[in-house]
Amino acid sequence: MSIIKIHSSLRDYEVHLSSVSNYLQELTCLEHKAFLVDENVWQYHANGILKVLPRTEMLLFPALEEKKTLEGAQDIYEYILGRSAKRNLTLVTIGGGILQDVTGFAASTLYRGINWIFIPTTLLAQADSCIGGKTSLNYKGYKNLIGTFYPPMAVWIDPCFLGTLQTQDFFSGLGEVIKLHIMGGEPKIQQILQEYDLICNKDAITLKSAIQTSLEIKGSYITDDEFDRGKRNMLNYGHCFGHALESVSNFYIPHGQAVIVGMILANHIASKRRILTKERCQFFEEKLLMPSLKTQMKPGYFQSDAIIEAMKKDKKRTGSGLVLVMINESDEMIRVDDLEEYEVRDALEVTGKKVIHHEKTN
Ligand code: NAD
Ligand code: ZN
Repeated sequence: MSIIKIHSSLRDYEVHLSSVSNYLQELTCLEHKAFLVDENVWQYHANGILKVLPRTEMLLFPALEEKKTLEGAQDIYEYILGRSAKRNLTLVTIGGGILQDVTGFAASTLYRGINWIFIPTTLLAQADSCIGGKTSLNYKGYKNLIGTFYPPMAVWIDPCFLGTLQTQDFFSGLGEVIKLHIMGGEPKIQQILQEYDLICNKDAITLKSAIQTSLEIKGSYITDDEFDRGKRNMLNYGHCFGHALESVSNFYIPHGQAVIVGMILANHIASKRRILTKERCQFFEEKLLMPSLKTQMKPGYFQSDAIIEAMKKDKKRTGSGLVLVMINESDEMIRVDDLEEYEVRDALEVTGKKVIHHEKTN
């Protein structure tokens, strides 16, 4: 078994990577507990790994962005308030990033914080979102506008869940895995290149190692900057454009897939600014980014006015200029806040064509 220790000012916690069977058994023996399970995960795993869960202490929850709201959180409050145990209850979430965000929010606000354990079931949640302590709700059409910092008491990762993921959800998670490996520098880039085919074939041992590496790299960015004031910002590589693409596509593009296109766009601008060579830019594109794009991209997603408008609305933007995180030739992350609109238009035109063409020929 591998354990990664994460430091947080609220509490230090451990991320376990191994089979979750025995742990689930232990959790069912707790005196006061409630399991919040993603409906789809339940459908696939009720007769398998989740068989031990007590039906009477379980709430099935749909993984829908419309449920990642105050109303969704309220459903969880109501469920917990309807039970005899109160502050001493342990809430166990089993699901992906949506379940994590809404149940984490509910756990952090009810009684100013109840015990919370997270068992992530998507690649994105296992390799990325399960650490960092962010909980989020969508509000009035704005994604992740409301939220808290509330790390779980423990995270338990079992790659066995990934076998039932839909292709688009798997490749969404892969976008974040690739991003983190690129941010980890040359040895990690070589590692993922070597393991790429095995990962795509969902080889359990390789997936576990890629997840562990991703979490270790993310961990190194959040330990010194838990509340996202500086270094942690660099994790937004691929996200400045990614968030805008998600929003312009009306969330048709899954998060991690938007991040892949976001990295292609950021690299294009980095190469225009001569901080990244064309060769390196092409290398990332051909070897890792383009092969991982599995979402049908439409020309409308690359309309520059709409993208620029969405980038201006990004909640992480504090100054007047547009913000971009880029990687340079030495694999260092750089954040600029003087991105010009003409640079965005040029990148969208060149990249948009490539990405749409790639889909057609793939
Ligand atoms: P998700 O939770 O939306 O799940 C995607 C789909 O996969 C859903 O249909 C779900 O029911 C299904 N699913 C989950 N596990 C499965 C399994 N093992 N087998 C089969 N189907 C399964 O997906 P996600 O990509 O994990 O999360 C996206 C959400 O995470 C977004 O709302 C995003 O804003 C949020 N997010 C949060 C953070 C954070 O730090 N808190 C970071 C990144 C993203
Ligand atoms: Zn992300």
